[in-house]
Amino acid sequence: MKHLSILGSTGSIGRNTLRIVEMFPDRFKVRALAAKSNVALLAEQVSRFQPDLAVVFDEERSRELRRRIPAGAGVKILHGAEGYREAAGHAPVDTVVAAMVGSAGLLPALAAIDAGKTIALANKETLVMAGEIVMKKAAAKGVRILPVDSEHSAVFQCLSGQRRQDLAGIHLTASGGPFLKKALAEFASITPSEALNHPTWKMGPKISIDSATLMNKGLEVIEAQNLFEVPAEMIEVVIHPQSLVHSMVSFKDGSVIAQMGIPDMKGAIAYALSHPERLPLDQPIPDFAGIGSLKFKRLNLKKFPCLSLAFNAGRRGGTLPAVLNAANETAVYAFLNRQIAFVQIAVVVEKTMAQHAVVTAPALDDIIASDGWARRQAEACIRKMQK
Ligand code: MG
Repeated sequence: MKHLSILGSTGSIGRNTLRIVEMFPDRFKVRALAAKSNVALLAEQVSRFQPDLAVVFDEERSRELRRRIPAGAGVKILHGAEGYREAAGHAPVDTVVAAMVGSAGLLPALAAIDAGKTIALANKETLVMAGEIVMKKAAAKGVRILPVDSEHSAVFQCLSGQRRQDLAGIHLTASGGPFLKKALAEFASITPSEALNHPTWKMGPKISIDSATLMNKGLEVIEAQNLFEVPAEMIEVVIHPQSLVHSMVSFKDGSVIAQMGIPDMKGAIAYALSHPERLPLDQPIPDFAGIGSLKFKRLNLKKFPCLSLAFNAGRRGGTLPAVLNAANETAVYAFLNRQIAFVQIAVVVEKTMAQHAVVTAPALDDIIASDGWARRQAEACIRKMQK
């Protein structure tokens, strides 16, 4: 029996994780659930899975959660950073599913590593912001980080049993998002609802916008750099609209291994939870003859400047990836609130990055300071754009 703490239980990764728990009740027990603010769903999850702990961000919501859960249910209700830390380090837990949205996931993930928990990592910002620190700490603690992001799960699976020195390259596939075929001239008028409509993956709003700008792929490049300890130069992004090949790895002898499957995030989540075993998920195997051919395309970087920005940040390293991430987060929410246009997301990120004095080999404090600085800088940039 594996005991789980799910950070971000009301998001799409969290909900899919709980579906897997329900499919295999004799293998998994939920001991802690943490969400940001969706108290209604969290209360339902608490009554269904009966964890020891339930956590939300603010105190007011924790009172609301307490009102929704019957007295005597035996659930400890917590809030805030301290609550997330407790859920991450809860003694009976073996595996922490780190699936909070955005930079808020970093400190709870670090707390889980400190507590020696195995990490099923869905929150890519953890590795984008503080990859070196996180990987060093995990190595020092003997903690395994198992990727939940489908591309990284694919690479992880392709690399298993292979010698690291034989690796030639990592080929991350990208569906291309909803605007792959849209002409660049029409990008200026893209609305939030168009950008939220992803062709193959159903996800939360932040990651859906990141998928439309391809910043998501950019963050994945930096995530892969850290997780697999390879330079950005060894990572290629290739468009694959069918989302059947989840990513590929090439070797010195010219051999390429791909990991495939129907696009359903349950596969990667389940593998991170059960590694090295595979769970009988009842997923259909792709009908290869019916599919006929696999399509790959080169990416048009002019349409998706966010990807180039991410490659630059990944190559430069230090605090620049954290700045890229924070500026992007600020710009994405400004776009969702209709304060800036879709094409201005990249402009905000680029301007913020250009003004940053990069700290090399940063400590956690440097990263947190750069994150805060980048948010203020990005907000100032957005205000100027609105005038
Ligand atoms: Mg992904």
